[in-house]
Amino acid sequence: MLKSKYKSLLLTVFFLILFSIQIISAKTLPLQDTIIMVDPGHGGRDSGTYYGTVLEKDINLKISKQLEKTLTQQGAIVYMTRKRDIDLSSIYDSEKKRGDLYRRLLLIKEKKCDLYVSIHINWYDDSNLKGAEVLYNPINKSNKVLATEIMNSFKEDLQSNRNVKTTDLYMYRNITVPGVLIECGYLSNPTERKLLQDKKYQELLANSITKGIVDFLKKENKIKFVI
Ligand SMILES: [Zn+2]
Repeated sequence: MLKSKYKSLLLTVFFLILFSIQIISAKTLPLQDTIIMVDPGHGGRDSGTYYGTVLEKDINLKISKQLEKTLTQQGAIVYMTRKRDIDLSSIYDSEKKRGDLYRRLLLIKEKKCDLYVSIHINWYDDSNLKGAEVLYNPINKSNKVLATEIMNSFKEDLQSNRNVKTTDLYMYRNITVPGVLIECGYLSNPTERKLLQDKKYQELLANSITKGIVDFLKKENKIKFVI
């Protein structure tokens, strides 16, 4: 009798400890329950920009997968518009590019995300131009805040001297969910071209974007668990 009482007391203590550990770990995850769509630009028939055999679509996917990892580690629920080398257009689309972007847009709306980030790589005729930058559409107030926070992260972590810009591209002017277009660097710049293909630099980019997203949610008072 005594033994079984002792046993149940031990069990209760065990579950109490387990429960409090769970609460502590939940409190230390700043992106807990935040739904984020990561959108690796281009894919499949659409390579995006390129330098020889170095294709934008492949680098976009690698950075995006790294970002999926870091966001998930911070507690976010992460979806991706593509996880493979495909484009999202239908065989019935008369305009493939528009169809691809339209389906990305639908996915972002369908998943009821808190925010989305599109991952791209830049190109410019002047190969001296370099630096990661963030573009936003002023369709809502949050987009500029999100863009600025991620840009601040880039300035700090990647020493980028670029600034936020607005974009009027089809996809971004048709989504009211907060989100931005991230140009992770210039494939036309030799130094950055090397860096963008480097796994460590891709990790650095993913961490920097994650930090910017956390800062944005803090600013908008949308952190669901306070540390
Ligand atoms: Zn692109």
